[in-house]
Parts: sequence; C-alpha cells; structure tokens
Amino acid sequence: MIREILNGIYQIHIPLPGNPLKVLNSYLIKGRERNLLVDTGFNWPECKQAQLKAMTALGIDWADVDFFITHAHADHVGLVGELASKDTKVYCSKTDAQIVHNFMHSNYWAASDIYFSQHGYPPEKLHRKKDDIDDYISAGGDIDFTWVEDGDIIEVGDYRLKCIATPGHSPGHMCLYDAEKKLLFSGDHILGGITSNITSWGGKIDLLGLYLASLRKVDALEIDLVLPAHRELILDHHQRIAELIHHHDSRLKEILNILRNGAMNSYQTAGHMHWDLTYDSWDEFPDYQKWFATGEAMAHLEHLAELGQVQHIKHGEILMYQLTK
Ligand SMILES: [Zn+2]
Ligand SMILES: [Zn+2]
Repeated sequence: MIREILNGIYQIHIPLPGNPLKVLNSYLIKGRERNLLVDTGFNWPECKQAQLKAMTALGIDWADVDFFITHAHADHVGLVGELASKDTKVYCSKTDAQIVHNFMHSNYWAASDIYFSQHGYPPEKLHRKKDDIDDYISAGGDIDFTWVEDGDIIEVGDYRLKCIATPGHSPGHMCLYDAEKKLLFSGDHILGGITSNITSWGGKIDLLGLYLASLRKVDALEIDLVLPAHRELILDHHQRIAELIHHHDSRLKEILNILRNGAMNSYQTAGHMHWDLTYDSWDEFPDYQKWFATGEAMAHLEHLAELGQVQHIKHGEILMYQLTK
C-alpha cells in the first residue's frame, strides 16, 4: 500500500510476514533529481516485491534513489544491499553503520552470547550465528555508507531534513526533522501504538538513559506530524513522549520492587517482570521472547546502576544487581 502523506512524501507499507511488528513504514520523498527512501524492510522477497511495486507505481527509477537508514536493525537496513547501486548514497550514522558491518564480519554474535550468558541467560539457548543474519540483511558488511552526524542537512525536493541523533533504541539511531514543515521521520525512536524495544548492546553504555535524553530532545522540537517506522502516524508528540517516559518510569519502579526480594541477574529479573504477552508463565515464553525480555531488563538495571539505585555484584561469572539501600 502506498499513500501520499504530504506533498511529495509517500508512505509505503512493507509487509513483515510472521514478525510481530507486522509492517515497516518506508517513506519515499520525491526530489527534483534524487529521491530519498527512508528505511527498507528485511532482505526478504515479500519486502523486495513491495518496494519494487511501489517505485514502479510512483514512476521512479531505482538509479535515482538514495537511502536514509534510521538505524542498524534488519527491518530498516535489510534490503539496501539489494536495492542500492554503486553510485547510490546510503546515509546512516557512523555508529550504526559500523554495527551493520560488525553483524556480518566480526564475532559480534559470539560476543553478544557471552554478554547475555553473563547476565544469566542460559548459555545452551544461545545459538545466534552470523549465518542467521544473512537471511535478514543483504550485503550488510559491504554497504558503502555515507556517515551523517547530528545537525547534518539533506535536501530533497521541498524538504530540508536535519539529522537528529537520537541514541537509545540503537546506539546510533537518527531521526530526520524538517523545522519549517514541522515534520519528523522518527524511525523506531517514537512509535504509535507500541513501545520501542530498549535493550543492551553490550558494554557499559546506559542506553535507557540515552533513550530518555533523546526523548526529551525531540520533545523540545516543534512538530506537527511524526512519521514513525511502525504503526500509525503521531500528531501529538508531546503526549506520546510523556506516555513513553511514564512507561519506563513504571518499569524502573517495578524492578526496584522486584529487587527487594534480594539480588538478581537480568534473566531472573525479567522472569519476575510483567509482560504484555499471552503466555501463562515465564517458563512458557519462547526463547526469543526471553532473550528480548532479558535485554530490556538489562537496560533498565544498567540505568538504575547509573542512577546509583542499584549496584553490581559478581556471582562467579554472573553479573547480579542489588539495591544500594
Ligand atoms: Zn529498531
Ligand atoms: Zn523497526
């Protein structure tokens, strides 16, 4: 499905069959010479077909399309390697461009597995491999990205789009903002009906802290319309941001309560948290849901550690958290 949202801006629904996100909203901004496509979909035939059909319907030649990748997740970057040609510009933050490269060319997944097992995730259930990623991201390590920084401007047609660094959902997430048109392409930083997954990407970075700061940064912008990468358009970004901050605040309080029972690792903490899923108990969660839940618990625990409300303790190889008072 394609719809013109504003003059020269088209929203393209890219199906993500079998994925809980259901659809990626890709956006095509028509320019006079070059066009810009914001996010692409997985490296899946269904996604590629939807993109090809859309460009045909819009009468646009792929050779005239540049790309803006909001962040390293495969539903955003997956098809670039398939659709971009040698002379195409693919804009992305340096941080996330390097993450895409690492997905394909380094021991990223082995390091991630070690990290999750240190947080209590059962090692026998960790089996992510580089090969799995090939199914989602085409030529991820070899894409010739053009790095963009906070404040950089990309002009397309009547739009003057400023890159806004919004780390949190990923370490190098970027939004695009047109100050005159009061328009924000929000990627996965702000979504309509669902909350963005905030997890740990390894190392000691407080990504939830960065995410909350990025929400406040966007809250200060004048915006009439938010174009998110999933679900519906957002008209009142102040209200949505207040809801998101409240959501994470409640999560932090919930975790502090859980830790009153004693020190726990991230995996154990996740098992005590409330999740909006249809399973009767934590034991029934599929492994990948437990993995996401552990990542979320980890990001919240690391933020509480940064705030000085919990402290790390080591239990053998396992990292535990306990209340500071
Ligand atoms: Zn994402
Ligand atoms: Zn996404």
